[in-house]
Amino acid sequence: SCRGSWSSESADSVISTDSSNNLYNVVLLGENGVGKSALASIFAGAADSMGSDCDLYGGEVCEQTVTVDDETATITLLDTWDPQDESKWTQDQCMHAGDAYLIVYSITDRASFEKASELRIQLRRVRQSDDVPIILVGNKCDLVRCREVSINEGRACAVVFDCKFIETSAAMQHNVWDMFNGIVRQLRLRRDSKEA
Ligand code: GDP
Ligand code: MG
Repeated sequence: SCRGSWSSESADSVISTDSSNNLYNVVLLGENGVGKSALASIFAGAADSMGSDCDLYGGEVCEQTVTVDDETATITLLDTWDPQDESKWTQDQCMHAGDAYLIVYSITDRASFEKASELRIQLRRVRQSDDVPIILVGNKCDLVRCREVSINEGRACAVVFDCKFIETSAAMQHNVWDMFNGIVRQLRLRRDSKEA
């Protein structure tokens, strides 16, 4: 069964942040079809119950308490990004809502990789003064024969972005928790450096 509590409420009801209580908003960004919702469904703990009691593709917000390095953190994962949004309202919401961002592309889709660069630039523009943790995520790494973006290109891009990099496969559940744990660690590093 699904451990995550998916909410049908809109994103603005969950954008309040409180890093002192280890409550963080993590936003998924990326082109349509790269696997954001597939990654979110794994986060919700419902990977084994696709289409059962957890309405994953209808739900866009999932709050989950996770334990990373013996410390808990409550993560609200927002899968609300819509690249085709005309109004730009939701896009702006997403760009402001995150304490951290997962910028996802598909290793099988070069256009989605180029889109990731645009998103990084957009984020930098919107959040100029903030030092928000970002992980560049190359998803679908199981599809080796369809690969269009090499792992070295991904790594090099992350250097330019000044962010972390990981390749994942939502389909094989490969590196997905490394990604979520990694963003929690990044958030803590930032928290601890602010406290110091
Ligand atoms: P979104 O638009 O970014 O939310 O992408 P979805 O999560 O809806 O995924 C788009 C399609 O890619 C779906 O058919 C998924 O089953 C498939 N998909 C997502 N992640 C992976 C992956 O890691 N490997 C493979 N082979 N397919 C994936
Ligand atoms: Mg989706």
